[in-house]
Amino acid sequence: MENYIVSARKYRPATFETVVGQSHITTTLKNVIKNGQLAQAFLFCGPRGVGKTTCARILAKAINCQHLTDTIEACNECESCRSFNDATSMNIFELDAASNNSVDDIRRLVEQVRIPPQSGQYKVYIIDEVHMLSTNAFNAFLKTLEEPPAYAKFILATTEKHKIIPTILSRCQIFDFKRIKIDDIAKHLEYVAQKESITYEAEALHIIAQKADGGLRDALSMFDQLVNFTSGNLSYANCIDNLNVLDYEYYFRLVDYFRSGNISNSLLLYQEILDKGFDGQHFITGLSEHIRNLMVCLDPITLSLLDVSDNIKSRYTEQANNCRLNLLLKYLDIASEYEYRYRDSNNKRLFIEVCLTKMATAVMAQQQTTTQQQAQPQPTQQPEINQQPRVQTYQKPIQQQPQQSATTATNNIAPTITPPQKVSPKVVIPTKTSTISISQNIPVVPNTENEKKNNELELTLEVVKDLWNKYSESIEEDVNLQFAMSQATIEINDNRLFTVTSDNSYMETTIKRNRRNILDFMRKKTGIKLLDFLTSVTKQEHQKVVYNPTDKFEYLKEKNSLMVNLRKTFKNIDF
Ligand SMILES: [Zn+2]
Repeated sequence: MENYIVSARKYRPATFETVVGQSHITTTLKNVIKNGQLAQAFLFCGPRGVGKTTCARILAKAINCQHLTDTIEACNECESCRSFNDATSMNIFELDAASNNSVDDIRRLVEQVRIPPQSGQYKVYIIDEVHMLSTNAFNAFLKTLEEPPAYAKFILATTEKHKIIPTILSRCQIFDFKRIKIDDIAKHLEYVAQKESITYEAEALHIIAQKADGGLRDALSMFDQLVNFTSGNLSYANCIDNLNVLDYEYYFRLVDYFRSGNISNSLLLYQEILDKGFDGQHFITGLSEHIRNLMVCLDPITLSLLDVSDNIKSRYTEQANNCRLNLLLKYLDIASEYEYRYRDSNNKRLFIEVCLTKMATAVMAQQQTTTQQQAQPQPTQQPEINQQPRVQTYQKPIQQQPQQSATTATNNIAPTITPPQKVSPKVVIPTKTSTISISQNIPVVPNTENEKKNNELELTLEVVKDLWNKYSESIEEDVNLQFAMSQATIEINDNRLFTVTSDNSYMETTIKRNRRNILDFMRKKTGIKLLDFLTSVTKQEHQKVVYNPTDKFEYLKEKNSLMVNLRKTFKNIDF
């Protein structure tokens, strides 16, 4: 059986010319050699897998070559070149500082430096991951770096330039390697695929390149794996399945749904994505990226910023041409806001659903705004909008904000959406008033002036407490909820909103889970259709730590003064 060599090694560039995507480096290096201005030490910085070590080896070989070609490449024929190619050259030393970072390791290297080359002109020392050297090792190395023998050249490589101390930096000629462009990686993969007689789709190679995030080595190892998985048939579908990449097709479809205001299809599509095992963060990041790509397509000048294959480029351009810039901006606004807040949200799925709903209604919202600007102001809207800050200020912790908007939204959206066939954009965005309500996260209930009638009870603490208890009594079968309700503290925020504070998050969740039923009951009894409540947990839950029996007793006493009597009854025994 023939030996299998991974592509990253098999197709490792051996000349400056074949290094992928770093022409700014290779050109400079060639000039340096040509003009005989070799520095004593080089520092190669840049992300992993972009060709730092490869370039270091090519440089080492070239400066030792006895017959450099006209294009400043090693001749591959002289004695030195041959020994380099057979890996028998005594003039190159590689040290991986990640695993050899002690003073002793460096001392051994320094010893080596003293011995001049037996053949060839230069001894080249490549120290990889040089930022991993211990401080002592750095110091031991510094002296050699300050006054090296003329035949010694150092090439230091690092992924973390900021960790290199200034004394080293100042002694090196610095080269910054770039992430390799997706297009360049894809082209290289194409070259390898052709050499290996592998069938491929251009899209597939692009996806690999994209996933490699600028690292050629990573791209090549992914390529090798995929060739194995797919028995040498790299199709786009194969690749996205194996690489866990979300098909851009989803995003194209989503934006089409947004544009037509189709909320239900957007949500169903998201469900499909979740079913495939993608998480929300991944999804929302990809969505922002997609919208950014569309924006880039709007102007032919910025089209070059689009890092996708030509085939997809035309699809982006096509979709972009059907969108207006301010609409895309609105989408991007929403997407980035939700992307940013995603981690803090409690109900992540709902959170994304709200985001999608907002996007799907953005197109109508914009139309509404333009028409409203012409129409006269709507008096009924004012109180709702003013109410918003009061709701916001109540829940102080930042984490709770998404949850708050999410819970509010449950009320609005959930009932409309559960039967998908019933949902049409009309249901949610029929009148001017309700459009505003959606974007402000205020309950969407038919809000004509006639309905704010006399049969609404005034919302006082007594009324709420009374109904709260009545509801609690009516649910004898649910002991947990009953207990949670009996322990909760109620405060009135305004004539439609009150806040329920629980002692711990378990009780809060219990109440939240039954929120709909409680609200239904209370709305019916009060006649206040917009009645709503917020939930929160007493801060004490997090602060109060009960360690010993005395603490426990104090804590229980605070909760219930009868504990004192109980203790007396039991004659002061220790709890
Ligand atoms: Zn040579």
